[in-house]
Amino acid sequence: MTMYGDIERVLWTAEEIVARISELGGEISNDFQRFPSPVVLVGVATGAFIFLADIVRNITLPIAVDFIRAESYGSGTKSNGAPIISCDLKLDISGKHVILVEDIVDTGATLSCLISHLKSKGACSVSVCTLLDKPARRRVHFDLIGEGKFYRGFECGDEFVVGYGLDLAEIYRNLPYIGVLKPEKHN
Ligand code: 5GP
Repeated sequence: MTMYGDIERVLWTAEEIVARISELGGEISNDFQRFPSPVVLVGVATGAFIFLADIVRNITLPIAVDFIRAESYGSGTKSNGAPIISCDLKLDISGKHVILVEDIVDTGATLSCLISHLKSKGACSVSVCTLLDKPARRRVHFDLIGEGKFYRGFECGDEFVVGYGLDLAEIYRNLPYIGVLKPEKHN
């Protein structure tokens, strides 16, 4: 039994994802080259782990990497409400330029919480680099900090997606592409 048969539609193939990440890495390298100190890329666990691993290898500048965890989703496909930070950074980001690396921005609640947190820790700018963005579902406003920019790989419609780090109840993260599950698999 494999997981591939659970997918109804592929939205972005592995090749399309690789190509887009190469472009994003180029943009970030270009935008941050003027700063003398290394940028800190903060991956939002768990969903961003594959995207983070790929984006860092497409950035040509010296960078530091750390992780943060914010919990708001249970094991289903609907949010449980306000996120909390359940695992904090190891690095001191005071005075640093930070790029938050996310798998997907949905309502914006997680990002809003994380950006405020990074600001309170003294980051001098906070940018966001998300592989997917669901603007139609935005409910919570967030402001980037300082000269922060918003980078996104692809715009996603209002549907639940899995693969390339994104899960349903911790499964499907290792799919090499992003797709939509057959209805019987997530209802
Ligand atoms: P937000 O706080 O923006 O509503 O939600 C962000 C988090 O919700 C993401 O980091 C991700 O874990 C989860 N999420 C939102 N939409 C999807 C989706 O379509 N698929 C999966 N697997 N997770 C999602």
